[in-house]
Amino acid sequence: MISHVLPTYNRAPIAFEKGEGAWAIATDGTRYLDLGSGIAVNVLGHANPDLVAALTEQAGKIWHVSNLYQIPQQERLADLLVEHTFADTAFITNSGTEAAELAIKMIRKYWHDQGQDRIEILTFEGAFHGRSTGAIAASGAEKMVKGFGPLMPGFRTLPWGDLDALKAAISDKTAAVMLEPVQGEGGIRPLPDADLRQIRALCDKHGALLVLDEVQCGMGRTGRLFAHEYAGITPDIMMVAKGIGGGFPLGAVLATEKAAAGMVAGTHGSTYGGNPLACAVGARVMEIVADDAFLAEVNRKAALFRQRLEGLVAAHPDVFESVRGQGLMLGLKCKVAPTDVVKAGYAQHLLTVPAADNTLRLLPPLNISDDEITEAVARLDRAAASLG
Ligand SMILES: *Cc1c(COP(=O)(O)O)cnc(C)c1O
Repeated sequence: MISHVLPTYNRAPIAFEKGEGAWAIATDGTRYLDLGSGIAVNVLGHANPDLVAALTEQAGKIWHVSNLYQIPQQERLADLLVEHTFADTAFITNSGTEAAELAIKMIRKYWHDQGQDRIEILTFEGAFHGRSTGAIAASGAEKMVKGFGPLMPGFRTLPWGDLDALKAAISDKTAAVMLEPVQGEGGIRPLPDADLRQIRALCDKHGALLVLDEVQCGMGRTGRLFAHEYAGITPDIMMVAKGIGGGFPLGAVLATEKAAAGMVAGTHGSTYGGNPLACAVGARVMEIVADDAFLAEVNRKAALFRQRLEGLVAAHPDVFESVRGQGLMLGLKCKVAPTDVVKAGYAQHLLTVPAADNTLRLLPPLNISDDEITEAVARLDRAAASLG
């Protein structure tokens, strides 16, 4: 008999009833050190007092109004996003998938309004943009698309990191190039800064839009507010979600005025997107994370964590191969199945997340303490020893 919850997930037999910072506390009282953060979502940890205050203060006033009206909290969040990024404008969504859908619509509308027949969006193997029909077509991954055809047309998947393949594929007919500066689900695979600069140059040469999906790697995760800042380039359109709500469902599409020009009244909408409750929390997250001192701390901790992880890999050469990633978006390339390491982690009361390319993901809250990093590595060490 089918479970009452549609069984699309293989779930671990653990339920959490509360959280405190980097700790998630299970219904039996066990304290788990959380290096998953709900998959890069809880950037400020669980039950962060600033976010609880922002949420409860707004909850006592008004939760939801339609986008038929002015929403000051949404304007505040959009102001912060524009102030701290390349963007001239932002549309607030409830998730990353919704952001990807709007990004795709925005690309299509842009070329439609230019009167140009450009429909092809170039994407990359290992990409993840969500689970909607458009987003799975953009990913092209067999395991996500199988059985869900016919796929939405207009996407072409290229090998990840292969600039020659991109040079061969891009043309004056290309609508956009869409990618994650650091692939998350694909296995914590950063694109070198030089490659991102070259991709920007190729887009400029052919007039194509550059669309970055920073749903997982954005919001301070890599040590900059957005990962593309390392390369010194800017996209035309960017998707944001996960960390932006600090745990509350929230996403955004950021765009330049030029890329967004076609999205006039009536072309897009959302009932919930940009509601006062979500935006009050999102604005508070932005105020905290988009701060140079906060990001400097992320980088300091990331260097500490990475150094310890290098030691861990050296101590367990049969389990781990290498450390990869940027900032606190870290991956351990494994020699065993990463799901086995995740399970061994549960036994040590440690939460980690598997990814493709045989990689274990470590995505701690950005405000994890030095002592918690030390404790996390000790637990990983015991987990790896139990597999040896
Ligand atoms: C998680 C993710 C998405 C989808 O976001 P949802 O909020 O799950 O819809 C899109 N792109 C990337 C890079 C992601 O990591």
